[in-house]
Amino acid sequence: MDTNWMAQGNCAEKPPEVFFPSDGVGVEAAKRICATCPVQAACLEHALVNRIDHGVWGGTSERQRRRLLKSRRLDAQAAARV
Ligand code: SF4
Repeated sequence: MDTNWMAQGNCAEKPPEVFFPSDGVGVEAAKRICATCPVQAACLEHALVNRIDHGVWGGTSERQRRRLLKSRRLDAQAAARV
């Protein structure tokens, strides 16, 4: 698994706890940092593929990633039926 992109993230020099917030205000603060991150897409894919439940990854909250995974699952099921 290639994780070299992690060193290029906007969070590389920030305290990890910023990305594991305990409330919605913290989630939004983390997402603002992710919004301009040059490796956002790789980060999000890493979290989705590895089913990372906790924290803000790739500019998404835990809930948003659950929705994305569900959407992907439904798309794959629909494609399999064609
Ligand atoms: S998208 Fe966010 S969590 Fe991911 S590397 Fe960038 S700043 Fe860090």
